[in-house]
Parts: sequence; C-alpha cells; structure tokens
Amino acid sequence: MGGRHFLQIPGPSNVPQRVLNAMASPVINHRGVEFAELAKGLFPKLRQIFKTTRGTPIIFPSSGTGAWESSLVNTLSPGDKVLCLCIGEFSAGYGKVAQNHGFAVERMEVPWGSAVSPQALQEKLAADKAHAIKAVLTIHNETSTGVTTDIGAVREAMDRAKHPALLLVDTVSGLACADFRFDEWKVDVAVTCSQKGLLMPPGLGIVCVSEKALAAREKATTPRHYFDWGPMMTRNAVGYFPFTPATTLLYGLEEATDMLLEEGLEHIFARHKRMAEGVRRAVRAWGLQPVAETDALASPVLTAVRLPDGIDGDKLLVVSETEFDLSLGNGLGPLAGKAFRIGHLGEMNDLEVLATLAGCELTLARMGVSIDFGKGVGVAQRYFSENPMPRAG
Ligand code: PLP
Repeated sequence: MGGRHFLQIPGPSNVPQRVLNAMASPVINHRGVEFAELAKGLFPKLRQIFKTTRGTPIIFPSSGTGAWESSLVNTLSPGDKVLCLCIGEFSAGYGKVAQNHGFAVERMEVPWGSAVSPQALQEKLAADKAHAIKAVLTIHNETSTGVTTDIGAVREAMDRAKHPALLLVDTVSGLACADFRFDEWKVDVAVTCSQKGLLMPPGLGIVCVSEKALAAREKATTPRHYFDWGPMMTRNAVGYFPFTPATTLLYGLEEATDMLLEEGLEHIFARHKRMAEGVRRAVRAWGLQPVAETDALASPVLTAVRLPDGIDGDKLLVVSETEFDLSLGNGLGPLAGKAFRIGHLGEMNDLEVLATLAGCELTLARMGVSIDFGKGVGVAQRYFSENPMPRAG
C-alpha cells in the first residue's frame, strides 16, 4: 500500500520526526560528563510538564505498568488497604497490580463511561474513621472508555473528608494532553510513561513523587529493588542512574519535552480538546454514540465509540488496517468487540483528524453500518473551520 500509515490508536502515539532524529545518535558513556548534562536537563522540563516545583520526577526504563508498580511498592507496606476508583480497564488494572502485591484493595466501581462521583468518594473516606485506607488510586484519563476524571475534585473530596490517604494518580494517557496540576491538586504520586502525550516510543515509565510520598517511603516495608526511588534519587541528583539507563530514549525525551514546552502546555490542552470535540461531532453524525456518558466526562485524548448490535468490533479493526492502512484501538473488557477507539493525541493536526474520520467512514461502511459519506467528516470540518486554533508558542 502506498502513502503513510495512520496510527490512530490511543497510544503509542505518532513519534515526531524531530524526536526520531534525536534518538538516531550514538550511545554515549552513561557514567560520563555528557550524560550527566543530558540527564540533569531533563528533570526541570518534566517538572514543568507535571506543573510542579516540589515534586521529584523519576524515570525508569519500563512501560507504564512498571511505573504503577513503583508507585505502590515505595509507599505501602504488606497488607495496607488502598481504595481503587475503577472506571475502566486501566484503573482496574492499577488495582490489580496492588492486589498482586498483597495490598488489600477496596474498589469503588461505576458503569463504564462514567466516573466516580466526588461526593461518593468523600462519603466513603469520611466513613473510614480509623484511616485504614492508606492510598486512593485513581486515573486521570481512562484509555479504555475515553473518560477523564476531575482530579482536582478528587483532591477536594479527600480534603473535605479530612482523610490523610496518599493520592496516587495514573496519568499515563493524560499527561501532556489534558491539564494536569501536580502541586495544585496535591498529588502524591503521578504515574506516566513515554508513549502517549510525551511523543515518545514506548520504553520509559515515569513517576513524579511528592514530599509526603517520600516520607511514606521511609516507613514502607514492601520489598523493592529495581523500582526503588532511593538509589534513583541519589544518583539522579548528580546526573546518573543506579543502573544502565535507556540512553537513546533519553535523547528522545529531551527533544520531545522541548517540543512540548515550545508549543506550550495550554495550547496543547486546547488543541486536544478541539480535536476531541470534532471527533465526537462526527461520531454523532454517523448515528453512533461515544462511550463517555456526557461531554463533560469525555476525554480530549481518545474517543471510544459504541458499535451497533451485530457489528463485530474486532473485525472492524482488521478491515481498517488491511484495507485503509488505519490503526484504530479495540474495545476492551466488557466493550471487547462492541466498541472501537479513535486516538487523537500527541502530534496531530486538523487534516490528520479529518483523514482518520474519513477512514472510519470507509471502514464502518465496509462493515455494513449505514454511512452517508462525508457527513461525519463534514461536521468536524465545519467545527474546525469555525473554531480556528490560535498560533502556538
Ligand atoms: N494506564 C493507562 C491509562 C494506559 O492507557 C496504559 C496502557 O495503555 C497503562 C496504564 C499501561 O501502560 P503500559 O502498557 O505502558 O504498561
């Protein structure tokens, strides 16, 4: 097939050429002077992206799952109770990691497409008079449903309940796409990784940790080695790592964080919101519905779309890839085969979103969904035309 492939899954996102070029450099001595300069330059940029002056970013060679594990083993002791706000596959997955480590996981569950209400959370925490719950595990952007949690409201609910639990937030697919305020929301551990809003290939798991989380680490007795923050922080302070770092990926991260800060975080958030709005309008013009129950809950990162009965979502993905060179995300968990996901994150412009929507129309029609060609593309086009983006920078 000629032309370029459209990678429109909700991460890994498309890696910009600038980042690819930066990674195509010789590996340097990771105990040398040049490496220390590279590493020391990364942390202030990550702090800006997490919106923190007090938090400490730590970079592991791992995927997001490793960063999940790191957030738990550093802050908790065997048998500790955690409250997991389960709104989809990945928030539930975070709870599963906690369970597999022997922590006592209590779950607050909601139907997929919605989020846990801050009021319900406040009541749950207020009822925990003995403060048995040591950490609240939540998700900024649920990649399986396309729902964003209001983390500021989660923090307010915890404060209103006067509960001292740590706030651990998965922002794997949220960071650098949707607003994230580590300091303002008093997040204790933010968990992310390289392959989504950070414009990188997979391979880096990143946490940002608060002073309160570091104090919890002093008392936490869960065995840890690879994901221990202590040796990382000691060596990072002088520009090094306690083990061999992913040098090439760090070149890429340097370039990617430069690109993000050049565009400006607020511009990035507005661009994502606008792309998502265009996509949701197209979905409705096709006569379909996003999984997110309301526009207020809907993610700027991806849109999960419910399919009509009788349309096989797994087959749809094969058709889009083999016939139109377009990769879309599959339905997960209870949505397996019943939904598909359109990623609109990272380096992406109006024409790429419109081409993706055109590809979805072709695919849906091939699958037997009645599609009036151009209808979804047209409403998105009109929305983009009537709501131009201000210039970046
Ligand atoms: N959390 C969220 C929100 C995700 O979307 C993913 C993966 O897509 C993960 C965690 C797991 O990350 P990884 O697959 O990099 O281990």
